[in-house]
Amino acid sequence: MRQAGAEGPADGPGEAMHALVERLYPICRSITGDGVRATLDIIGEYLPLTRHEVPTGTQVLDWTVPEEWNIRDAYIADAHGRRVVDFAASSLHVLGYSEPVATTLPLSELRSRLHTLPDHPDWIPYRTSYYRRTWGFCLSQNTLDALPDGDYEVRIDSTLADGHLSYAEHVIPGQVPDEVIVSSHVCHPSLANDNLAGIAVATQLALALAAETPYYTYRFLFAPGTIGAITWLARNQDRIDRVKHGLVLACAGDRGALTYKQSRRGDAEIDKVLRHVLAATERPHHIKEFTPYGYDERQFCSPGFDLGVGSLSRTPYAGYPEYHTSADNPDFVSAAAMADTLAVCREAFAVLDRNRRYMNLSPYGEPQLGRRGLYASLGGRSDGQEAQLAMLWVLSLSDGEHSLLEVVDRSGLPFTAVAGAADALHAAGLIKA
Ligand code: ZN
Repeated sequence: MRQAGAEGPADGPGEAMHALVERLYPICRSITGDGVRATLDIIGEYLPLTRHEVPTGTQVLDWTVPEEWNIRDAYIADAHGRRVVDFAASSLHVLGYSEPVATTLPLSELRSRLHTLPDHPDWIPYRTSYYRRTWGFCLSQNTLDALPDGDYEVRIDSTLADGHLSYAEHVIPGQVPDEVIVSSHVCHPSLANDNLAGIAVATQLALALAAETPYYTYRFLFAPGTIGAITWLARNQDRIDRVKHGLVLACAGDRGALTYKQSRRGDAEIDKVLRHVLAATERPHHIKEFTPYGYDERQFCSPGFDLGVGSLSRTPYAGYPEYHTSADNPDFVSAAAMADTLAVCREAFAVLDRNRRYMNLSPYGEPQLGRRGLYASLGGRSDGQEAQLAMLWVLSLSDGEHSLLEVVDRSGLPFTAVAGAADALHAAGLIKA
């Protein structure tokens, strides 16, 4: 596996993303609750966010917004009152959505409530129980093995009550109302690659796009996994036709090669764009077929919506031993890898934004380019021949059927040359979008 690119400058976007990961890391997030709000507060320092609070009990597609979970403290204490497992040390120590408990139990009875990873005895697992009420703790196997028999005080100071599901959007208006959605889940507690790196890349991507005037309108979605995407879809069902393309960002910061998981359609424009950009930049990468498992592409690509939404990650979910464990910490993600993911996103959206179908307005024989100054403009340019060839290719394939990306595929020319040729031909009135 390749180590992602060279380290960037100390104040580059990679370092900014890593700093954001470190800042968000300690917060105990879940699918609802104050941890999500605190996370959105911090993202909101970078990007203006439209926040949404959807009440418990709201019907969203086939689901219902659950009770809101909040936690203040949790621990297991030994007979001397010493905390042997302490939520303050890691948000992973409590089974997510644990109901409150305050009792004393012998270790033999407590064991069934304790989750460990025997194969990685010094790591803490990440476990949740969103839709079945229970409680439990996660701890390292080593910690468990060191506990003598006897009574332990267990306390989880949590609440499960009517409240809200929180999510946020950031919109960058484009030249057209057609939208590209970029989605990253914000429901995981102290896990860096899954998905603080995705949040960090999305945030920097939004900042970069906002500095331009993109063609498409870009809508960034920061929502809890599954129920958040389902809630967003339920509330946007009547305007979903506007969503033309989308990308789910997850596991965006580990040192493995990039992986693009195609939309369910497999031939959506976003699929073609990512395949092209990953191949053209000669990065080691993997292209995967759609599977109905993974992140929120599952919801966006469900057959009723069938959106052209793919997913970009580095090593995919469950593809690395640190996945869903305390070893997915800020050291597991690198500034260079996040910068590399960001660079691919920027390149992909630049291509997507510029990709069009054109109609040749002078399709009977080749139009005379010299008379229109289109040859003269190439004089002395070292890429003159490539530019001329690109014009001929664009004219040839501009029948309203082929996009510029398809011209690139057929001609083998770089996208920038083909897009430049289209600009010149458009300015000369020879093609129309
Ligand atoms: Zn996960």
